[in-house]
Amino acid sequence: MKHRFENKVALVTGGSRGIGRACVFQLAREGAEVWFLYQSNQLAAAAVMNDLTAEGAKVHAEQADVRDSARIQQIVEKILNARGRIDVLVNSAGVIRDGLVGTMTDEQWREVLETNLTGTFNCCRAVAQPMLSQRQGSIVNLSSTAAEFSSRGQANYAASKGGINGLTRALAKEFAPRGVRVNAVAPGMIETDMSEAVRGLAGAKIKEIIPLRRVGTPEEVAHLVAFLASDEASYITGQIIRVDGGLSLGGY
Ligand code: NAP
Repeated sequence: MKHRFENKVALVTGGSRGIGRACVFQLAREGAEVWFLYQSNQLAAAAVMNDLTAEGAKVHAEQADVRDSARIQQIVEKILNARGRIDVLVNSAGVIRDGLVGTMTDEQWREVLETNLTGTFNCCRAVAQPMLSQRQGSIVNLSSTAAEFSSRGQANYAASKGGINGLTRALAKEFAPRGVRVNAVAPGMIETDMSEAVRGLAGAKIKEIIPLRRVGTPEEVAHLVAFLASDEASYITGQIIRVDGGLSLGGY
């Protein structure tokens, strides 16, 4: 295994489960010291810690709600005090609260927008100063194909992911002169807790709607996230890259 992240410090939100968890494993196994955040699932976070520390990886877990900007700032300061730098930020924390617009509650709208979009902004803003002063850094945001091809009942989620695409491009332009890159990955249907209900509803139809005839794995998303976070992607910024088995190609 190549060690693309030797001596690098990474912060991953949503690292206890799903895609964020796969990113923590990949970055840590490739040499990064990884600080990951979880919201409430302490058991899942402890399992990640146990597995990776047993492998000799450098990993730290912090409980934090990405909606709480003061707490995010505090964690970034803690990392800077301990290591003096942050090289990689992966924003994977996210939620869905589906419902048709006519009956969608304020809470459903707010929770999704505040977690997915404001949470991503909070973390980008907190690492901006250290990355800009280092004149080096890479941010990868988790968007979704739903930003462009949303399903019924996902107005809040689609709006949050469309917002992430805009934020990604705007930050890429703002940070580029200082060598800090910002990209997003837009997964289709990936096998995690989040997609469980949708996968259940789609059932056997998944093979008809996804050209590669299967859902993706969190690891397949993490490979792209790690590539974008690494120096191998040194000339790529402001891009939204799909990893969806061809789902967004449309047609039959
Ligand atoms: P998941 O399995 O449900 O995991 C969500 C993660 O986010 C967990 O670690 C959770 O922490 C954390 N989290 C949720 N709310 C948080 C908050 N307010 N503050 C801090 N952490 C919070 O989700 P996933 O499928 O891996 O999704 C990861 C990202 O990919 C999301 O942004 C999602 O929108 C995007 N995505 C997923 C799919 C898919 O098919 N799965 C497709 C397209 C895009 P706890 O463990 O503590 O709850």
